[in-house]
Amino acid sequence: MFNIIIFGKPGSGKGTQADFLKNKYDLYHISTGDLFRKNITTETKLGLEAKSYLDNGDLVPDTITIKMLENEVLSNKDVKGYIFDGFPRTLNQAESLDFFLESINLNISATIALDVSEDELISRLLERGKITNRSDDQDVDKIKNRFNEYNNKTSILINFYKNQDKFYSVDGKGSVDDITSRLFNLIDSLI
Ligand code: AMP
Repeated sequence: MFNIIIFGKPGSGKGTQADFLKNKYDLYHISTGDLFRKNITTETKLGLEAKSYLDNGDLVPDTITIKMLENEVLSNKDVKGYIFDGFPRTLNQAESLDFFLESINLNISATIALDVSEDELISRLLERGKITNRSDDQDVDKIKNRFNEYNNKTSILINFYKNQDKFYSVDGKGSVDDITSRLFNLIDSLI
């Protein structure tokens, strides 16, 4: 199985690119952000627990997030591989993911980061906020808080995956098509 993590700051294009990768490599796409938003819309218990964190741009506590992720994997086991989008975002999540995948005889094949500057991301997110109505994309303070969460809790995962020789970075600037080609070229060289 080929299991990848698509990694990067909010707005770096993880979800957009994950859609292309999912189709090309026949992977099952798991976006923890999408799962939370679905639960919030349908007003499940999980959604109610997660809502205030998403509204403020804070990370949802690990215990809730890890359990949701594991359930999603276990409910979709007959697949060729997974693409994890927006997970892991903390060291604890990354360690738990390794441990969990090992328990079902899987592992991460590669972590691929989309590299984009924060200035560019702020304008992208504000644009997206107008189209999708996502409240966490409409307020610069919330956006900056999400960058802080990334810088304080998520960026350390770069070294975590570098130490495992699984970290790759792709230039996330330019047209969507150009970025997709860069990702395809990289992944084709890995499989
Ligand atoms: P995203 O759609 O990936 O930008 O995520 C939107 C929001 O969902 C984040 O700002 C967090 O509040 C929450 N979230 C998504 N993934 C995670 C995660 N792995 N850990 C904690 N919170 C998360």
